[in-house]
Amino acid sequence: MLGWSINLFRIRGIQLAVHFSFILFLAWFAYDGYQDAGVSGALWGAATLLAFFTCVVLHELGHCFTGMRFGLHVRRILLMPIGGMAVFDSIPRKPREELLMTIAGPAVNFAIAGLLCLVAGYPHAGNVLDSPNSLTSFARLLAGWNLLMGIFNLTPAFPMDGGRILRALLATRLPYLRATKWAANIGKVVAGLGIAYGLFTSSYLLAVLFTFILLSGENEYRMLQRQEYAEAHWQAMMEHLARTRAGGPADEPPLLEPGNTEGEPRP
Ligand SMILES: [Zn+2]
Repeated sequence: MLGWSINLFRIRGIQLAVHFSFILFLAWFAYDGYQDAGVSGALWGAATLLAFFTCVVLHELGHCFTGMRFGLHVRRILLMPIGGMAVFDSIPRKPREELLMTIAGPAVNFAIAGLLCLVAGYPHAGNVLDSPNSLTSFARLLAGWNLLMGIFNLTPAFPMDGGRILRALLATRLPYLRATKWAANIGKVVAGLGIAYGLFTSSYLLAVLFTFILLSGENEYRMLQRQEYAEAHWQAMMEHLARTRAGGPADEPPLLEPGNTEGEPRP
């Protein structure tokens, strides 16, 4: 489903793409604005959403540019109605690098909010569908939304930024896979609370978002588990080969065991 996207342009080699559903979302905003105030309302609706998502792109670029300093390659940034997603070839295994790279995203939002507040006054996080009546109120609205975006992303629900920060902090003490398991499990509890909150307050988009986060967290943990397991097996094979070549006992090569679910690679 994530494949239904349109490529826009590249920023320092990073492909920016929008998911097909984002176009529908934009059309919905424009239509809502049109019903309020005709053509100018439609333009305001579309402009508000585009300004909001420009900030989402800047947040993702914060992650990307910091990651690129650590030698990571970014494949693309995908925009969806629920937010942006930067696709990296790999995630740094060094906790310090993951920490800096993750914090850079929300830091961009706080910087934008700070700048807008300097120009337009205190932030105001109103409904984005209510067309603001002046540029100043628009800037205050955008400042408010950037503050919310920054804070919301710090929610410790892996793989959200807050969850990644938690994983990086845990990984300074624990093996990487176990740190991920802890972060993912804590994330599931937080995401579960988020879903319940979304359903109780009829914020269905929030409930959908947390469902997506819940599934992504488990998915990322499992992928890492498979990867670590395959690496451990590969290493055991190489050691076996080295032993056999050195004229050691010709023991059986290590077997790849299915169903290793204990969260630790078993050579
Ligand atoms: Zn982020």
